[in-house]
Amino acid sequence: MQAILAPKNRFPKTIEEFRKEFHSETTSLHFLFNKRWPNGFVCPYCNWRKKEQEPTKTITCGHCGHPTSITTNTIMHGTKKALIEWLSCIWWLASTDGGHSAKDLQRLLNLSSYQTAWTWLQKLRMAMAVADNKPCRGTVELWSDSILLGGHMGHKEKILAAAEIILPSGITGRIKMEAISDLSSNSVTHFLVKHVAAGSSLVVPDSLAYHVRDQDAYLTVTDAKSATAVRIQQIIKSFEIWLNKIHRGGVVAKHLQLYLDEFCFRSNVAMLSDNEAIFHLLLSAVLSQKSRSYRNITANTTTE
Ligand SMILES: [Zn+2]
Repeated sequence: MQAILAPKNRFPKTIEEFRKEFHSETTSLHFLFNKRWPNGFVCPYCNWRKKEQEPTKTITCGHCGHPTSITTNTIMHGTKKALIEWLSCIWWLASTDGGHSAKDLQRLLNLSSYQTAWTWLQKLRMAMAVADNKPCRGTVELWSDSILLGGHMGHKEKILAAAEIILPSGITGRIKMEAISDLSSNSVTHFLVKHVAAGSSLVVPDSLAYHVRDQDAYLTVTDAKSATAVRIQQIIKSFEIWLNKIHRGGVVAKHLQLYLDEFCFRSNVAMLSDNEAIFHLLLSAVLSQKSRSYRNITANTTTE
């Protein structure tokens, strides 16, 4: 199914238009098959290839005999829901600004279970982190601040953030944020290795300079006046406001990183040309990632 990719057809602007395009399960299956295996079927267990494989619900590998479906070893692994529901959810996340709660998704797809909606969103946030895999580079500001989780009675969580500065205009480029337990050199190094390309120039406030001074990979410029603070404080504050507006204090510390990943993804893909590009970027990550179960997601205790 190539209709959605064909230049003559514009990318659907509404959920109704989108669902009309993927009106049957066969249409969704063909579309996903071509997206996942554009050069022919590849067995996810043994890499056996079959170029002329027709898209079918289940394919049995001619080499190892494993049965594979379009959702095997993806974020959608083991789903009992129709493919159109997953595709609609991905379209919705890629095509609407801001963010959404599990209740919003439950309403959109008419899901009977809140838990299903919540799990889907958490899995798709994991896909967003995979899709948003380019590090910050060039001139990169670094800053740490705390946010309040759970309203006035809640507790503070420390965030480490990086923001690319696009020179000479000085506008903000890519951003990256992580929830961290402390500001030790280990934590800062781990963050930098993951999120800032080697060779970048780091602009750091005095308070952080000590923790990055051993980093040979970067040219570190100490920002004695803490001008760095203004920009990244604003980014971290925006995240805090966004989180409380959409999730109303309902996010616990152990899941905080997934929400940071969604916020950074949304900010970084705003530089892409259109919603269709964002849809395909997110869908590729969905198809490339192994799923985690609800139990697995809720058992992920990092800081709580
Ligand atoms: Zn195989």
